[in-house]
Amino acid sequence: MNASFLIIFLVMNFIVGISFAGDEFNSLEYADSIKSKDTFTFKKILQELDGKKESLSQKELDYLHFLESYMTAYSGNLEDGISGYKAVYKNSKHEDLKVRSAASIVNLYGLMRDFENGYSWVLELQKKIQNSSGKIKHIGLVALAIFLNQVGEYESGLSYAEGVIDDAPDPRNLCFALNLSIEAKFELKKDVSEEALSKLIEVCDKEKEFVASSMAFIWEANNLIGKSEFERAKSKLQASLELVNNTHYPPAISEHYSLTALIHMHEGEYSKAVESANKSLDVAKNLGNTRPTVSAFRTLYQVAELQGKPDEALFYYKKFAEADRAYIDEVKAKQLAIQQAKHDAIERANQIALLDKENSLLKTEARLTKQEQQNDRLFMAFLMLVILLVVLWAYKNRRLHLQMRQQAQTDDLTGIANRHHFTQMAESALKYHQKSAQPLSFIIFDLDLFKRINDTYGHQVGDWALKAAVAACQSVCRQQDIIGRMGGEEFGLVLPGCSLNKAMEIAEACRKAIAAIDTRPSGEKFQITASFGVSDSTVCGYVFDSLYGCADKALYHSKEQGRNRVYRYEEDLNLKMDLRPQ
Ligand code: GH3
Ligand code: MG
Ligand code: MG
Repeated sequence: MNASFLIIFLVMNFIVGISFAGDEFNSLEYADSIKSKDTFTFKKILQELDGKKESLSQKELDYLHFLESYMTAYSGNLEDGISGYKAVYKNSKHEDLKVRSAASIVNLYGLMRDFENGYSWVLELQKKIQNSSGKIKHIGLVALAIFLNQVGEYESGLSYAEGVIDDAPDPRNLCFALNLSIEAKFELKKDVSEEALSKLIEVCDKEKEFVASSMAFIWEANNLIGKSEFERAKSKLQASLELVNNTHYPPAISEHYSLTALIHMHEGEYSKAVESANKSLDVAKNLGNTRPTVSAFRTLYQVAELQGKPDEALFYYKKFAEADRAYIDEVKAKQLAIQQAKHDAIERANQIALLDKENSLLKTEARLTKQEQQNDRLFMAFLMLVILLVVLWAYKNRRLHLQMRQQAQTDDLTGIANRHHFTQMAESALKYHQKSAQPLSFIIFDLDLFKRINDTYGHQVGDWALKAAVAACQSVCRQQDIIGRMGGEEFGLVLPGCSLNKAMEIAEACRKAIAAIDTRPSGEKFQITASFGVSDSTVCGYVFDSLYGCADKALYHSKEQGRNRVYRYEEDLNLKMDLRPQ
């Protein structure tokens, strides 16, 4: 009974009210509704619409391609029809067209007996119909039930068929769904009530779906034969003979005759049984290995046996065994194809899951890399901040250091080098001059009777006098000369590259400058003088202490000689020369 519905379902039309607007759509819908009844007009409309493709919207174009695919398949070119439907399924955005295309693909693969590809589209269609409803959904469900019944998956076929029946479908879909549900029940050896069969006949007759109603008679008869109610079975078959013949549908006719043959055999009407069995075989000769064929050969060998014709019985037994094996092989082949398709689907799903996993892994990796980059940037920014802080700290530290060094090196009151620093500078100058064999002179001077100034005018005036004396001396010195405070009111001067005579001149200029200080800005009017001692490296060598000692002696001499004068140290004569004009 398999394949009973394939052809009629394809020939039957999905007359579906699709809510589109526009004249072209009206034409398309009209073509859709007549495509099986009036093929000529159908083709004409399609040709017309094909000529003005440019004016069609995308939806209209999709609809046109869908109908063109139907036309292609209907004219016998099933492969191209499937390709056309696949293109619509892939490209159209219209869900209804997608469901209808998938349903047609499933149907066509079933017709081509390509169960493996068919089943992969069953899976596709199953997913697609989840979002659809009404007639479109019924079309999908009916297509699924047909295919699943065809491949022997009757439980699934039955549930899809019942899904349609329970959803109050239009009479035509109800006819198909009833037919499919009863076919599945029949195959599953489930009880089929006579009411259900009567309802099927009633609904399908009204829709002029005579193949469906004739199949109902056949199943009914089969049912009765199963229960050994041969009389009633015979009457059902006789009542439906004309109906079945008028369908010109070979699977139904051959089944009808094979059952009739069986009944005749049980009645002992052997010649009638042989006649019916042969008719069944004749009608089914192009259908491949069907159950009626198996049944007809079985009847023929059993009749021969009953008639005591062993040769004939053996001949038909062999035929029967051959057909039975081929039929079983085909059933097995179908199951194998379905298993393969299921396996492929699982593998595809696994691959997709794997790809998904890989994808999410890549995404995670990318996210991590991004995070790493961000972290790197943050780290770099942090590092730069640290470096900046370190540089700033080092700079400040250095400034502080310099400031402290400056403080440590200078005399607070006068701002010139203190004794320690002055001594260091003098020593390094001496080293250099000794190396380069250049002369260097040294002056010390001490303010005269300074204690008295302090005592007379106060310490502040004394401080003022100290600063004024330094400034006066600096004003007459050369730029390279180094001045320092040796302590109290005593000062030292290092004169690089300077001969003794030149040093005497500078000392004298200094003495004069001090003596010329106008003290009035201090608030007091008084005289400041200083006594000078001069030495040089030529006489006293390049050792600071000895230069200082020599100059000190000369200074002492100046004090001795009455102050406010300049003396130099001369070793050989131990002579002090007063350069002060007399
Ligand atoms: P002489 O001519 O022999 O050098 O006599 P003098 O008074 O200058 O010498 P003495 O050594 O007796 O006195 C030096 C004075 O200088 C004593 C001290 O109070 C004063 N003095 C030292 N340092 C400072 C200072 O920084 N400021 C002030 N105002 N006075 C100072
Ligand atoms: Mg003094
Ligand atoms: Mg002194």
